[in-house]
Amino acid sequence: MPDLAAYEPIAGPSVVSDLRELAKRLAGRRVLMVNSTRLGGGVAEILNRMVPLMREVGVDARWDVIEGTDPFYRVTKKFHNALHGKAEEIPPEMFETFLEVGRSNAQRIDLDVDIAFIHDPQPITLVEQRPKRPAVKWIWRCHIDVSRPIRTVWQFLEPFVKRFDAAIYSSPAFAQRMDMRQVLVAPSIDPLSEKNRELTPEEIDAVLARLGVPKDQPIITQVSRFDYLKDPIGVIEAFKRVRKSVKCRLVLAGGTASDDPEGEEVLAKVREQAKGHPEIHLLMLPADSHLEINALQRASAVVVQKSIREGFGLTVSEALWKARPVVASAVGGIPLQVKHGYSGLLVHTVEGAAHAIKQLLNNPAYAKRLGENGREHVRQNFLLTRHLMDYLLLFLALDYQTETIRLNGV
Ligand code: UDP
Repeated sequence: MPDLAAYEPIAGPSVVSDLRELAKRLAGRRVLMVNSTRLGGGVAEILNRMVPLMREVGVDARWDVIEGTDPFYRVTKKFHNALHGKAEEIPPEMFETFLEVGRSNAQRIDLDVDIAFIHDPQPITLVEQRPKRPAVKWIWRCHIDVSRPIRTVWQFLEPFVKRFDAAIYSSPAFAQRMDMRQVLVAPSIDPLSEKNRELTPEEIDAVLARLGVPKDQPIITQVSRFDYLKDPIGVIEAFKRVRKSVKCRLVLAGGTASDDPEGEEVLAKVREQAKGHPEIHLLMLPADSHLEINALQRASAVVVQKSIREGFGLTVSEALWKARPVVASAVGGIPLQVKHGYSGLLVHTVEGAAHAIKQLLNNPAYAKRLGENGREHVRQNFLLTRHLMDYLLLFLALDYQTETIRLNGV
């Protein structure tokens, strides 16, 4: 992992010195991150970079992952879908499974910390173990849009959420109206990670050759877990429409996350749709294929993210950072990243996606401008350094709250 100084030329020197200054006040603070997978998906992607950077500035951060069972991941996937508003049948014993796995993880994970940072619903029940000391803070970091959930699931989770000192959302539109401290912190990408660092043309070519993707035609790419909510079938339909008038290739690159039990089923449907179309490349990549994804995004004429529902949608910032023109659905956190007609094109349908892709393929100068604007937008708003700054500021704000409680004797 590069040290903080390496971010100066990208994020600016004042950002780095401000981070060091702020972090001095948090030196040695024990912070625990807990989520549900070490590999696969945006949360793991961020924690992989955030935890070492916190440590570098002197915060005693560590990262633990809850251990689940297959039935547990089936429940949490249903929760995930239901929080995104998809109707799901969840019998009472599934809620029981969820609580049981939470309890056994509470026995195993060392929760003796100053700040516990719990990501998403999977580990949320750990909050039952929080100590009563006011100086200890518990934060719920919600990466998904819970503004229009299926009621039963939200009603089950809400009492847990309320036990935290603060809830963090990626966008104001994602939150529920609740009587607690709610904070907005957008996610981020690490510009120096293997996924996002600059690559030479030779490095890109070598990856394409290894993955069997010829460069003879413009490449359209979507990088996503094979998940219904990422709509890979919709991407194929849009691509087939584009292919009628413009020669191009489609790359669907993805894997399945260890906490996602639906991946295989979705992949089978995608294979069916892609059958007989040699210009569609389905790439099942191991979860640590950061260089491969980097190269694929950089080699693409257009990067697509045609999600039906989305959390933040980190893949969009990843593509924009590479100055790629993006066509993406106007869902979740995507409109924070893509300003229509400025840093990409927002779409709502398969037809809209096909039209936007064609527009970009036929107008490279426009595509280039959108990509360049997108890179600057990411530089200003979605880099890891800004994200770390937001977390440090939140920790200090929570300290201030404790101090106020102490002084007022409440
Ligand atoms: N990703 C990956 N391999 C894959 C699919 C996705 O490394 O096969 C990465 C992708 O580059 C991004 C993250 O996983 O960094 C996905 O984050 P996003 O917010 O787009 O979606 P999520 O999977 O969290 O819903």
